[in-house]
Amino acid sequence: MSFALILPDGSKKEFDAAVSVADLASSISTSLAKNAVAGKVDGEIKPLDFQLDTDHEVAILTNKDAEGLSVLRATVAFVLEALVKDKYPEIKLGQAEVSEDGFFIETDKEDQIKVTELPDLEKALQKAIKNGEAIEHVQVAKSELAEAFKDDPYKSELLAKEGDVVDAYKLGDFVDFGFSALLPNTGKIKKFKLLSVAGAYWKGKSSNPMLQRIFGTAFFKEADLEADLKRRAEIKERDHRTIGRDLDLFFVDPKAGAGLPYWMPKGATIRRIIERYIVDKEVAAGYQHVYTPVLMNLDAYKTSGHWAHYREDMFPPMDMGEGEMLELRPMNCPSHIQIYKHHIRSYRELPIRIAELGMMHRYEKSGALSGLQRVREMTLNDGHTFVALDQVQEEFARTLQIIMDVYHDFDINDYYFRLSYRDPKNTDKYFANDEMWERSQSMLKAAMDDMGLDYVEAEGEAAFYGPKLDIQTKTALGNDETMSTIQLDFMLPERFELSYIGADGEEHRPVMIHRGIVGTMERFIAYLTEIYKGAFPTWLAPVQAEIIPVNLDAHSDYAKKVRDELVAKGFRAEIDFRNEKLGYKIRESQTQKVPYTLVLGDDEMNAGTVNVRPYGTEEQNSESLAEFMGKLSKDVANYSRE
Ligand code: ATP
Ligand code: ZN
Repeated sequence: MSFALILPDGSKKEFDAAVSVADLASSISTSLAKNAVAGKVDGEIKPLDFQLDTDHEVAILTNKDAEGLSVLRATVAFVLEALVKDKYPEIKLGQAEVSEDGFFIETDKEDQIKVTELPDLEKALQKAIKNGEAIEHVQVAKSELAEAFKDDPYKSELLAKEGDVVDAYKLGDFVDFGFSALLPNTGKIKKFKLLSVAGAYWKGKSSNPMLQRIFGTAFFKEADLEADLKRRAEIKERDHRTIGRDLDLFFVDPKAGAGLPYWMPKGATIRRIIERYIVDKEVAAGYQHVYTPVLMNLDAYKTSGHWAHYREDMFPPMDMGEGEMLELRPMNCPSHIQIYKHHIRSYRELPIRIAELGMMHRYEKSGALSGLQRVREMTLNDGHTFVALDQVQEEFARTLQIIMDVYHDFDINDYYFRLSYRDPKNTDKYFANDEMWERSQSMLKAAMDDMGLDYVEAEGEAAFYGPKLDIQTKTALGNDETMSTIQLDFMLPERFELSYIGADGEEHRPVMIHRGIVGTMERFIAYLTEIYKGAFPTWLAPVQAEIIPVNLDAHSDYAKKVRDELVAKGFRAEIDFRNEKLGYKIRESQTQKVPYTLVLGDDEMNAGTVNVRPYGTEEQNSESLAEFMGKLSKDVANYSRE
């Protein structure tokens, strides 16, 4: 018997007798043997003791590979399972899973595991590492495992999916399965951290029991763990849900309605400023702003195709009797089509640009809801432009220019463009009109090239009804997210029989462009909160000046005078009347990230000045109120703090 193993560099190694992945690593070099954590055999991750006895492509995974890291994390998850089982013999275990940045295990017991127990579990893990216990890879009959897990409904459910002989791992008396590979000894675990505990429905279904997930992460090197913990702290610091609570911007009360946010006065102020800003911007760019109902006859969504393809995300229709079905709109397109169709349109009017801050409702899965970032009621900065086919390129470029101007004003710099085309080999998936597709795709590309912009091209990513440009940003959590979008649509004009009268006196079909500049108010403000870390620039800050009288008895009247003058000029100022120490109030104002703190005492009162402390600096400037207002005006006009 002889076989060959092909290594990643293309070289071949011949063997006469079976070898394990570990043997193969040793035969290559001692350092590889030392660093090997698993093998990749024909693309599948296998443990070090996996026997090779026929031809294969094999790569040795080491502590430098991302996949090596996932083997380490799976091992920590496994050992953690063994430890909680040892500590709480009655506990039931769900999935143990490795994610992109760590791992989790699922647990279920009457008195759920609490975050305060994590330090003890960490200590136990530390001990297991120190003692270096063997993790044994065994192949066990499914029936034998079924017996071991007979009191554990979750593991039993997972086991049902396995074959008759199951790859399992043992640590002392504990046994588990479902891992592609684990390290052979707990001593090989290096650096780890248990991070948090959170409830999660079994299999993500809300009709299932709620389990507790214990999250953690692990690395081979101390420096990597430290960098990761630093990154996590940074994310936490940016999390818009935490900032939203600390700055009293908004809240969601699941008892009142999951995914249905309440905007507190400060959050509402930020939103109002953005709404005014974007409406003004659009009106100046030739848009006509409208108001249309959130409820619409279901028939409109049957015509549009949403009812056929998007029903899962829609709230169920309200049956009003006598055949009348009303639907909470998940999108505003049919509403704007109503506006378009209300008059006969001529080619001379095109492009017709209709916009709205349109409230819509989508029944997002409860597990996907997150603060303001993903909600069930949202208001989209929506707009639909109706153009002739030969106007597509120019209108597209104009729309994109607005988006870029807006990003500039909000100081959004970390984004990229993604052009999505149809897959020409899979035309069934797309609205049939080859000429429209070819022309419009090349127009989008030409517009991008003319503007000198870089973009990623994604074939097969277009919507069913037309090609699109997405502007992708990154959330604090590092996820890619579509903020703005420009989508061409050939289908809805067809379905709703839209037309305009051309120069030839005949009826023609317009092309419809769906576009969102800042997206929904909810997601946009969640995003801004994260990039600014709650320190909104002056033009957006809910309170621009926090006024602190040094002595409430002596200086409150002067403070009111200053506030009233600021408010009369359209600035947002408030006085801290609380009976607290001066130092505390100044710190509070910093914590609330107010752009300017004004401390008013005898000197200021007698000279008619204000003492200004800009946020995040050690500066203190004595200025006349007029000077200070000049600075505020400049900030607002420049959309900035400085
Ligand atoms: P996603 O893929 O995030 O669900 P989508 O592709 O369905 O979004 P569109 O239908 O294009 O989104 O909606 C336009 C904009 O609405 C998106 O760019 C996004 O900013 C926003 N948006 C969509 N769903 C939600 C939601 N549940 N909560 C908040 N904003 C949302
Ligand atoms: Zn639309």
